[in-house]
Amino acid sequence: MASINVNTKTNVPKGRSQMIQKDWLSKLKMPASIVICEVGPRDGLQNEKAMLTLEQKVELIERSALAGAKIIEIGSFVHPQAVPQMADTDEVARRIKRVEDVEYRALVMNLRGLERAEAAGIKKVKLTVSASRAHSLSNLKRTPEEAVRGFAECAEYAVTHGITLSGAISTSFGCPFEGRVPLEQVISVISSFKEIGVNELSLSDTTGMANPDQVYEYCLRVKEQFPNITWNLHFHNTRGMGLANVLAGMMAGIDRYDTCFAGLGGCPFAPGATGNIATEDLIHMCHEMGIETGYDLDQVISIGRYVQQIIGHDTASFILKAGKNSDIVCAQT
Ligand code: ZN
Repeated sequence: MASINVNTKTNVPKGRSQMIQKDWLSKLKMPASIVICEVGPRDGLQNEKAMLTLEQKVELIERSALAGAKIIEIGSFVHPQAVPQMADTDEVARRIKRVEDVEYRALVMNLRGLERAEAAGIKKVKLTVSASRAHSLSNLKRTPEEAVRGFAECAEYAVTHGITLSGAISTSFGCPFEGRVPLEQVISVISSFKEIGVNELSLSDTTGMANPDQVYEYCLRVKEQFPNITWNLHFHNTRGMGLANVLAGMMAGIDRYDTCFAGLGGCPFAPGATGNIATEDLIHMCHEMGIETGYDLDQVISIGRYVQQIIGHDTASFILKAGKNSDIVCAQT
């Protein structure tokens, strides 16, 4: 992995402190760039009371791609009664003007959803199970491993229809039913996904219970045990540990992260809780550190403000509240 180049255009103090920072970062073996997946159209909007119009969803997705998103989770193909906010994902997928090299991904729960995704021209889907046995048994009456094996028919369908599958393991770090989820349990679910041919996986902290020490340990171990899997991390900032967890993930060598415009998205076990890490917050942190994201931060901030406007309330984004570091520097000079 390439070592980091400190971006001297940011607000890093010159001289000795800059040298100390550079030394510190290189010791941490941080990636020089990361890929940020915009999950706002799915994870964010499904938690909102406001029902966006088809046009608004299409606009958010198209603007995200123009702002630099390389992966966008555009929605989910689930039963409309289960998640009414996602009822028009088929139409969203058909309407968006696609940008070359951008991956448009959707969540599916079963073969029916996968068939809908295929019909709407989606080439990448995500299947989700919970790492927590208690959570999975309570929700699906199946263990996580049984739930993954239930996706075997989806795997067959995907192969014959040229669709790539990815998997997400929710509650990978903690769960309200079990507390801390043991790494061995997460590894068992990863193995089940491998058996059905899934080679891209996301460890998701759905309830915001992960801490940086745990993230570092889990990421190092899964990377070591499954070196051919592409890893992605998905943190909710429910307890303010989201960006710290990203830093721990980067130290462990993971370079793909999910975020949500304006920091939308809640926690299924804590109504009203803070949602996903805000896209603009992570981009701002990375750019201040000299880590490339490929995003235009100002465009992302503008999207975040538009999101707040159309959902009609404030959100948990720090940058939308406080502005960028450089805004303050400009204001003083
Ligand atoms: Zn989530």
